Amino acid sequence: ATPTALMVGTGRSAKLGILIKNGEVLEAANTVKTIVFDKTGTITVGQPKVTDIVGDEKTVLQLAASLEAASEHPLAAAVLAQAKVSQVTAAPVTDFKAVEGRGVTGLVAGRSAFIGNSKMIDQLPAALATQMTALQKEAKTVVVVGEDQHAIGLIAIQDTPKASSAPAIAALKQRGYRTVMLTGDNRRVAAAIAQQVGIDDVIADVLPGEKAAAVAKLQADAPVAFVGDGINDAPALTTAAVGIAMGSGTDIAIESGGIVLVKNDLRDVVTALTLARKTFNRIR
Ligand code: ADP
Ligand code: MG
Repeated sequence: ATPTALMVGTGRSAKLGILIKNGEVLEAANTVKTIVFDKTGTITVGQPKVTDIVGDEKTVLQLAASLEAASEHPLAAAVLAQAKVSQVTAAPVTDFKAVEGRGVTGLVAGRSAFIGNSKMIDQLPAALATQMTALQKEAKTVVVVGEDQHAIGLIAIQDTPKASSAPAIAALKQRGYRTVMLTGDNRRVAAAIAQQVGIDDVIADVLPGEKAAAVAKLQADAPVAFVGDGINDAPALTTAAVGIAMGSGTDIAIESGGIVLVKNDLRDVVTALTLARKTFNRIR
Protein backbone atom coordinates (compact mmCIF):
# COMPACT_ATOMS: atom_id res chain seq x y z
CA ALA A 1 0.00 0.00 0.00
CA THR A 2 1.58 3.24 -1.10
CA PRO A 3 0.88 6.24 1.13
CA THR A 4 -0.30 8.27 -1.88
CA ALA A 5 -2.96 5.73 -2.81
CA LEU A 6 -4.21 5.66 0.78
CA MET A 7 -4.46 9.43 0.90
CA VAL A 8 -6.43 9.48 -2.32
CA GLY A 9 -8.80 6.94 -0.79
CA THR A 10 -9.35 8.69 2.53
CA GLY A 11 -9.50 12.21 1.03
CA ARG A 12 -12.23 11.27 -1.40
CA SER A 13 -14.29 9.55 1.28
CA ALA A 14 -14.08 12.53 3.65
CA LYS A 15 -15.97 14.60 1.08
CA LEU A 16 -18.75 12.00 1.29
CA GLY A 17 -18.91 12.25 5.07
CA ILE A 18 -16.94 9.04 5.68
CA LEU A 19 -14.00 9.80 7.96
CA ILE A 20 -11.26 7.19 7.87
CA LYS A 21 -8.67 7.65 10.61
CA ASN A 22 -5.68 6.23 8.73
CA GLY A 23 -4.51 3.93 5.97
CA GLU A 24 -4.31 0.90 8.24
CA VAL A 25 -8.03 1.17 8.90
CA LEU A 26 -8.71 1.13 5.16
CA GLU A 27 -6.39 -1.85 4.74
CA ALA A 28 -8.22 -3.73 7.53
CA ALA A 29 -11.55 -2.83 5.92
CA ASN A 30 -10.38 -4.69 2.82
CA THR A 31 -10.10 -7.90 4.87
CA VAL A 32 -13.48 -7.99 6.68
CA LYS A 33 -16.05 -10.64 5.82
CA THR A 34 -18.64 -10.12 8.58
CA ILE A 35 -20.45 -6.90 9.44
CA VAL A 36 -21.88 -6.74 12.97
CA PHE A 37 -24.41 -4.05 13.84
CA ASP A 38 -25.63 -2.61 17.13
CA LYS A 39 -29.41 -2.12 16.98
CA THR A 40 -30.54 1.05 18.76
CA GLY A 41 -29.28 4.21 17.08
CA THR A 42 -27.34 2.24 14.47
CA ILE A 43 -29.96 0.22 12.57
CA THR A 44 -32.85 2.14 14.13
CA VAL A 45 -33.37 5.88 14.32
CA GLY A 46 -32.63 5.81 18.06
CA GLN A 47 -35.63 7.86 19.11
CA PRO A 48 -37.87 5.27 20.75
CA LYS A 49 -41.50 6.14 21.45
CA VAL A 50 -44.04 4.66 23.86
CA THR A 51 -46.74 2.82 21.90
CA ASP A 52 -48.66 0.77 24.52
CA ILE A 53 -49.20 0.79 28.25
CA VAL A 54 -50.60 -2.30 29.97
CA GLY A 55 -52.14 -1.78 33.43
CA ASP A 56 -53.52 1.42 34.94
CA GLU A 57 -51.99 3.95 32.58
CA LYS A 58 -51.50 6.86 35.01
CA THR A 59 -50.15 4.69 37.84
CA VAL A 60 -47.77 2.75 35.59
CA LEU A 61 -46.55 5.88 33.86
CA GLN A 62 -46.04 7.80 37.08
CA LEU A 63 -43.91 5.13 38.69
CA ALA A 64 -41.98 4.67 35.43
CA ALA A 65 -41.36 8.39 34.89
CA SER A 66 -40.25 8.87 38.50
CA LEU A 67 -37.56 6.20 38.09
CA GLU A 68 -36.52 7.20 34.56
CA ALA A 69 -36.06 10.87 35.45
CA ALA A 70 -32.57 10.04 36.69
CA SER A 71 -31.69 7.62 33.85
CA GLU A 72 -29.70 8.42 30.72
CA HIS A 73 -30.98 5.44 28.73
CA PRO A 74 -32.78 6.13 25.41
CA LEU A 75 -35.79 4.21 26.76
CA ALA A 76 -35.96 6.64 29.68
CA ALA A 77 -36.36 9.56 27.27
CA ALA A 78 -39.31 7.78 25.63
CA VAL A 79 -41.01 7.21 29.00
CA LEU A 80 -40.48 10.82 30.07
CA ALA A 81 -41.83 12.16 26.76
CA GLN A 82 -44.98 10.06 27.20
CA ALA A 83 -45.39 11.20 30.80
CA LYS A 84 -45.31 14.79 29.59
CA VAL A 85 -47.96 14.11 26.93
CA SER A 86 -50.14 12.32 29.50
CA GLN A 87 -49.54 15.14 32.02
CA VAL A 88 -48.11 12.80 34.61
CA THR A 89 -45.60 14.33 37.02
CA ALA A 90 -42.69 12.39 38.44
CA ALA A 91 -42.39 11.72 42.17
CA PRO A 92 -39.08 12.14 44.00
CA VAL A 93 -36.80 9.10 43.98
CA THR A 94 -34.10 8.12 46.45
CA ASP A 95 -31.57 5.27 46.22
CA PHE A 96 -31.60 5.38 42.40
CA LYS A 97 -29.57 2.58 40.81
CA ALA A 98 -28.99 1.71 37.15
CA VAL A 99 -28.69 -2.05 36.64
CA GLU A 100 -26.49 -2.56 33.58
CA GLY A 101 -28.36 -4.06 30.61
CA ARG A 102 -31.50 -4.53 32.69
CA GLY A 103 -33.11 -1.35 33.98
CA VAL A 104 -33.25 0.91 37.01
CA THR A 105 -34.42 0.71 40.62
CA GLY A 106 -35.11 3.23 43.36
CA LEU A 107 -37.32 4.16 46.26
CA VAL A 108 -40.44 6.04 45.15
CA ALA A 109 -42.35 7.52 48.12
CA GLY A 110 -40.38 5.17 50.33
CA ARG A 111 -41.33 1.99 48.42
CA SER A 112 -38.84 0.05 46.33
CA ALA A 113 -39.74 0.23 42.65
CA PHE A 114 -38.23 -0.92 39.37
CA ILE A 115 -38.48 -0.58 35.59
CA GLY A 116 -36.63 -2.74 33.13
CA ASN A 117 -36.64 -6.01 31.25
CA SER A 118 -37.96 -9.28 32.65
CA LYS A 119 -34.63 -10.01 34.35
CA MET A 120 -35.64 -7.36 36.90
CA ILE A 121 -38.32 -9.65 38.34
CA ASP A 122 -38.40 -13.26 39.54
CA GLN A 123 -41.56 -14.17 37.71
CA LEU A 124 -43.96 -12.24 35.53
CA PRO A 125 -47.70 -13.05 36.00
CA ALA A 126 -48.89 -15.24 33.10
CA ALA A 127 -51.29 -12.62 31.70
CA LEU A 128 -48.53 -10.00 31.53
CA ALA A 129 -46.05 -12.50 30.08
CA THR A 130 -48.46 -13.29 27.24
CA GLN A 131 -48.98 -9.61 26.45
CA MET A 132 -45.25 -9.01 26.62
CA THR A 133 -44.55 -11.73 24.04
CA ALA A 134 -47.23 -10.39 21.68
CA LEU A 135 -45.82 -6.85 21.84
CA GLN A 136 -42.25 -8.08 21.35
CA LYS A 137 -43.28 -9.88 18.17
CA GLU A 138 -44.39 -6.46 16.90
CA ALA A 139 -40.75 -5.34 17.27
CA LYS A 140 -41.54 -3.41 20.45
CA THR A 141 -39.20 -3.34 23.43
CA VAL A 142 -41.27 -4.12 26.51
CA VAL A 143 -40.32 -3.02 30.00
CA VAL A 144 -41.92 -4.14 33.24
CA VAL A 145 -42.86 -1.58 35.87
CA GLY A 146 -43.29 -2.72 39.44
CA GLU A 147 -43.13 -2.23 43.17
CA ASP A 148 -41.24 -4.57 45.48
CA GLN A 149 -41.18 -7.78 43.42
CA HIS A 150 -44.69 -7.20 42.08
CA ALA A 151 -45.32 -6.10 38.46
CA ILE A 152 -47.99 -3.41 38.07
CA GLY A 153 -47.80 -3.03 34.31
CA LEU A 154 -45.88 -2.97 31.05
CA ILE A 155 -44.70 -0.23 28.75
CA ALA A 156 -44.04 -1.02 25.09
CA ILE A 157 -41.57 1.18 23.29
CA GLN A 158 -40.87 1.23 19.57
CA ASP A 159 -37.90 2.44 17.61
CA THR A 160 -38.15 2.20 13.84
CA PRO A 161 -35.37 1.22 11.44
CA LYS A 162 -33.79 4.05 9.44
CA ALA A 163 -35.03 4.06 5.83
CA SER A 164 -31.43 3.54 4.72
CA SER A 165 -30.85 0.38 6.81
CA ALA A 166 -32.60 -2.22 4.62
CA PRO A 167 -30.97 -1.09 1.33
CA ALA A 168 -27.58 -1.00 3.06
CA ILE A 169 -27.95 -4.55 4.37
CA ALA A 170 -29.13 -5.77 0.96
CA ALA A 171 -26.10 -4.21 -0.73
CA LEU A 172 -23.71 -5.78 1.79
CA LYS A 173 -25.26 -9.23 1.37
CA GLN A 174 -25.12 -8.87 -2.40
CA ARG A 175 -21.40 -8.20 -2.06
CA GLY A 176 -21.00 -11.42 -0.07
CA TYR A 177 -20.73 -10.10 3.49
CA ARG A 178 -22.30 -11.94 6.43
CA THR A 179 -24.53 -9.59 8.47
CA VAL A 180 -25.14 -9.92 12.22
CA MET A 181 -27.13 -7.89 14.78
CA LEU A 182 -25.69 -7.64 18.30
CA THR A 183 -27.99 -6.13 20.92
CA GLY A 184 -28.88 -5.96 24.59
CA ASP A 185 -32.54 -6.04 23.68
CA ASN A 186 -34.80 -9.08 23.85
CA ARG A 187 -34.41 -11.80 21.18
CA ARG A 188 -37.97 -11.45 19.83
CA VAL A 189 -37.63 -7.70 19.34
CA ALA A 190 -34.18 -8.16 17.82
CA ALA A 191 -35.45 -10.87 15.45
CA ALA A 192 -38.39 -8.69 14.35
CA ILE A 193 -36.14 -5.72 13.56
CA ALA A 194 -33.56 -7.99 11.88
CA GLN A 195 -36.30 -9.37 9.65
CA GLN A 196 -37.49 -5.87 8.74
CA VAL A 197 -34.01 -4.89 7.51
CA GLY A 198 -32.88 -8.29 6.18
CA ILE A 199 -30.11 -9.13 8.66
CA ASP A 200 -29.07 -12.82 8.64
CA ASP A 201 -28.05 -13.55 12.21
CA VAL A 202 -29.09 -12.16 15.57
CA ILE A 203 -27.25 -12.22 18.89
CA ALA A 204 -29.62 -10.75 21.52
CA ASP A 205 -29.85 -10.34 25.31
CA VAL A 206 -26.18 -9.38 25.37
CA LEU A 207 -25.05 -7.41 28.41
CA PRO A 208 -23.07 -4.23 27.62
CA GLY A 209 -19.89 -5.81 28.99
CA GLU A 210 -20.34 -8.85 26.75
CA LYS A 211 -20.45 -7.11 23.36
CA ALA A 212 -16.68 -7.10 22.81
CA ALA A 213 -16.42 -10.80 23.67
CA ALA A 214 -19.20 -11.56 21.18
CA VAL A 215 -17.28 -9.70 18.47
CA ALA A 216 -14.09 -11.58 19.36
CA LYS A 217 -15.95 -14.87 19.06
CA LEU A 218 -17.31 -13.99 15.59
CA GLN A 219 -13.83 -12.86 14.65
CA ALA A 220 -12.47 -16.34 15.26
CA ASP A 221 -14.24 -17.21 11.97
CA ALA A 222 -13.41 -14.12 9.91
CA PRO A 223 -12.40 -10.47 10.41
CA VAL A 224 -15.29 -8.32 11.59
CA ALA A 225 -16.37 -4.73 11.08
CA PHE A 226 -18.52 -3.61 14.04
CA VAL A 227 -20.92 -0.70 13.55
CA GLY A 228 -22.21 1.08 16.67
CA ASP A 229 -22.98 4.33 18.43
CA GLY A 230 -23.30 3.86 22.19
CA ILE A 231 -21.06 4.06 25.25
CA ASN A 232 -21.50 0.29 25.57
CA ASP A 233 -20.31 -0.18 21.97
CA ALA A 234 -16.84 1.31 22.55
CA PRO A 235 -15.09 -1.98 23.55
CA ALA A 236 -16.66 -3.80 20.57
CA LEU A 237 -15.55 -0.99 18.23
CA THR A 238 -11.94 -1.43 19.31
CA THR A 239 -12.07 -5.25 19.37
CA ALA A 240 -13.29 -5.51 15.77
CA ALA A 241 -10.78 -5.45 12.89
CA VAL A 242 -12.63 -2.28 11.88
CA GLY A 243 -14.76 -0.14 14.21
CA ILE A 244 -17.34 2.00 12.44
CA ALA A 245 -19.01 4.66 14.59
CA MET A 246 -22.12 6.69 13.85
CA GLY A 247 -21.44 10.44 13.75
CA SER A 248 -24.49 10.87 15.99
CA GLY A 249 -22.96 8.50 18.51
CA THR A 250 -21.48 9.18 21.91
CA ASP A 251 -18.00 10.76 22.03
CA ILE A 252 -16.46 7.55 23.33
CA ALA A 253 -17.88 5.57 20.40
CA ILE A 254 -16.58 8.12 17.88
CA GLU A 255 -13.13 8.03 19.52
CA SER A 256 -13.13 4.23 19.40
CA GLY A 257 -14.08 4.00 15.73
CA GLY A 258 -11.52 3.78 12.93
CA ILE A 259 -14.22 5.02 10.56
CA VAL A 260 -16.89 7.59 11.41
CA LEU A 261 -20.08 7.91 9.36
CA VAL A 262 -20.98 11.59 9.56
CA LYS A 263 -24.36 11.10 7.87
CA ASN A 264 -25.36 8.16 10.14
CA ASP A 265 -26.37 6.29 7.00
CA LEU A 266 -25.53 2.58 6.85
CA ARG A 267 -25.19 2.77 3.05
CA ASP A 268 -21.90 4.53 3.82
CA VAL A 269 -20.65 1.22 5.29
CA VAL A 270 -21.01 -0.16 1.77
CA THR A 271 -19.24 2.87 0.29
CA ALA A 272 -16.35 2.59 2.78
CA LEU A 273 -15.85 -1.14 2.20
CA THR A 274 -16.05 -0.71 -1.58
CA LEU A 275 -13.49 2.07 -1.36
CA ALA A 276 -11.16 -0.20 0.62
CA ARG A 277 -11.50 -2.93 -1.98
CA LYS A 278 -10.83 -0.52 -4.85
CA THR A 279 -7.85 1.10 -3.13
CA PHE A 280 -6.10 -2.15 -2.30
CA ASN A 281 -6.89 -4.01 -5.46
CA ARG A 282 -5.57 -1.14 -7.53
CA ILE A 283 -2.24 -0.90 -5.71
CA ARG A 284 -1.65 -4.59 -5.17
P1 ADP B 1 -29.04 -1.82 23.75
O1 ADP B 1 -28.14 -2.88 23.19
O2 ADP B 1 -30.32 -1.75 22.98
O3 ADP B 1 -28.35 -0.48 23.85
P2 ADP B 1 -29.01 -1.99 26.72
O4 ADP B 1 -27.93 -2.94 27.08
O5 ADP B 1 -28.77 -0.55 26.98
O6 ADP B 1 -29.50 -2.27 25.22
O7 ADP B 1 -30.33 -2.39 27.51
C1 ADP B 1 -30.84 -3.71 27.38
C2 ADP B 1 -32.24 -3.78 27.92
O8 ADP B 1 -32.27 -3.46 29.33
C3 ADP B 1 -33.21 -2.80 27.28
O9 ADP B 1 -33.75 -3.28 26.08
C4 ADP B 1 -34.26 -2.69 28.38
O10 ADP B 1 -35.13 -3.79 28.34
C5 ADP B 1 -33.45 -2.78 29.67
N1 ADP B 1 -33.10 -1.44 30.20
C6 ADP B 1 -31.86 -0.92 30.34
N2 ADP B 1 -31.90 0.31 30.87
C7 ADP B 1 -33.20 0.63 31.05
C8 ADP B 1 -33.92 1.77 31.56
N3 ADP B 1 -33.31 2.88 31.98
N4 ADP B 1 -35.26 1.70 31.58
C9 ADP B 1 -35.91 0.60 31.15
N5 ADP B 1 -35.30 -0.49 30.67
C10 ADP B 1 -33.97 -0.50 30.62
MG1 MG C 1 -26.94 1.87 20.14
